[in-house]
Amino acid sequence: ETTHFGYQTVSTREKENLVRGVFSSVASNYDLMNDIMSMGVHRLWKTHFINKLDAGMRPGTDRPLAFLDVAGGTGDIAFGLLDHAKHKFQDTQSTMTVADINPDMLMEGERRCLTQTSYGRSPRIEFLEQNGETLDKIEDNSKDVYTIAFGIRNFTDIQAGLNTAYRVLKPGGVFACLEFSHVDNSLVDTVYQTYSFSLLPLMGQLVANDRDSYQYLVESIRKFPKQEEFAGMVRKAGFYVPGKGYEDLTFGVAAIHIGVKL
Ligand code: SAM
Repeated sequence: ETTHFGYQTVSTREKENLVRGVFSSVASNYDLMNDIMSMGVHRLWKTHFINKLDAGMRPGTDRPLAFLDVAGGTGDIAFGLLDHAKHKFQDTQSTMTVADINPDMLMEGERRCLTQTSYGRSPRIEFLEQNGETLDKIEDNSKDVYTIAFGIRNFTDIQAGLNTAYRVLKPGGVFACLEFSHVDNSLVDTVYQTYSFSLLPLMGQLVANDRDSYQYLVESIRKFPKQEEFAGMVRKAGFYVPGKGYEDLTFGVAAIHIGVKL
């Protein structure tokens, strides 16, 4: 079976290995890479994503939430969600599973958890090496909130990943995806394409000495389905998709998609 890695045609197994290689090679300067790629804007998008979800155990209730952050990498979203729950709802009980296919990214996440957060070795957070397409260590109907940020475009089979998200969520559970997407405005798109196709790989080379990984990232963004099409895939997985199903961020450079398992 063949698929694509950037614009190369490769076997699905090969693609998994190539994607793994990309993230292993960027793991240690991953945050820097994110800042370069998005010129720092990814921080604002992530904060908006977390505030929009507004998740946490409400005061006066006693059912902690089970969060799952897939392709959680270095933990930005996971720590952000727990911090939000704590600061807004005084929720110090909800739990977080960070799942990622890449052990180097997970190690970086664990290191950050110990050194940069108040969660340390808290039993509330676990790091699991898992392919998001299958999540075979995660039980059916077991999670309240499934998040994935800048991860799903790397999946070989995106629909399988969405079907799995539906499987692991409890009824009433929420799926939320933050991902690079497509700019509709043609003027903005021209600027953006120029930036991402010529400047980004060059910057990747200069700053991280890793042109190929950056080239892959740009191409993976290009090939990712458009907003409406992706919303259709979320629906196809079984989710109820409220409204038009997505919110564009920065002219559609990124988008948030939401689905609810009814
Ligand atoms: N969510 C983090 C963030 O927003 O900073 C990390 C995003 S990083 C660009 C993409 C992550 O997806 C990497 O950590 C990579 O290892 C992970 N990934 C790629 N394919 C995956 C798969 N099939 N299953 C789980 N994780 C995957």
